[in-house]
Amino acid sequence: MKKTCIVTGGSSGIGLSIVQLFAQEGYQVFNLDIQPSNVSVLGSSDISCDMSDVEQVSELINHIAKTTTIDVLVSNAGIHFSGNIENTTEADLDKVLNINVKGAYAAVKSVLPNMKANKKGAIILMASDQALIAKQNSFAYNISKVALASMAKTTALDYASFNIRANAVCPGTIETSLYHQAIDNYCERSGADKAAVHAEEAALQPLGRLGQPEEVAELVYFLASDKAKFITGSLQVIDGGYTAQ
Ligand code: NAD
Repeated sequence: MKKTCIVTGGSSGIGLSIVQLFAQEGYQVFNLDIQPSNVSVLGSSDISCDMSDVEQVSELINHIAKTTTIDVLVSNAGIHFSGNIENTTEADLDKVLNINVKGAYAAVKSVLPNMKANKKGAIILMASDQALIAKQNSFAYNISKVALASMAKTTALDYASFNIRANAVCPGTIETSLYHQAIDNYCERSGADKAAVHAEEAALQPLGRLGQPEEVAELVYFLASDKAKFITGSLQVIDGGYTAQ
């Protein structure tokens, strides 16, 4: 029987690469995303879901859990908001935390009864290098990613006795629409040239380039596999050396 993986935010960027890799490796994949994917992936079903709606997330996951064993959850959906604490309104903060943190809370909480019953499960939370270091003008996003790193640790401790592992992946700068949007916003505000900013970003990475979504998907796949069966509660950095500086 096929193993099952639920991915949130799997319609683009890192999430899409994760959906593609798990499907290619024979998983039945459910992609919970607010927008449908432009890429149709054999072995994956798109389910329309707003991760900030806790009730909706739990209803959809409970429905999946009725008919299948959930082997893997990759809680990946997330948004960025550019701003320091003063220019982040309460509504901006709520939006980021509701999607990035409460969405992950809802997804993790909803898969646990199924994983507990099966005495096995792998949960991967998509944090960021910003779980380890702060970046400028990224107040809401910074704190959301620190929360996800802690969610991985606390879940790892509370569910180790059920053989459920939880880890956080901490990517550096990965070339996706989220990255391009953040650069666009910055250029709009500062008047900087996009190509120049893009080149500067690449030069900031010790490996001299940005990461690619497929590279993050490979790490997630490893963490979900039995090859990682002694890894839990960890923060896995994949950032071209950025946070080592
Ligand atoms: P992306 O914008 O390409 O993809 C994000 C996906 O999440 C999209 O498919 C989007 O539709 C979905 N999404 C957004 N709001 C949603 C909601 N309310 N409900 C359901 N789905 C929603 O971004 P990405 O770069 O692939 O980012 C994926 C994850 O990786 C995010 O959690 C992000 O914070 C994290 N991350 C990205 C980078 C980077 O440099 N790109 C670095 C570190 C961490």
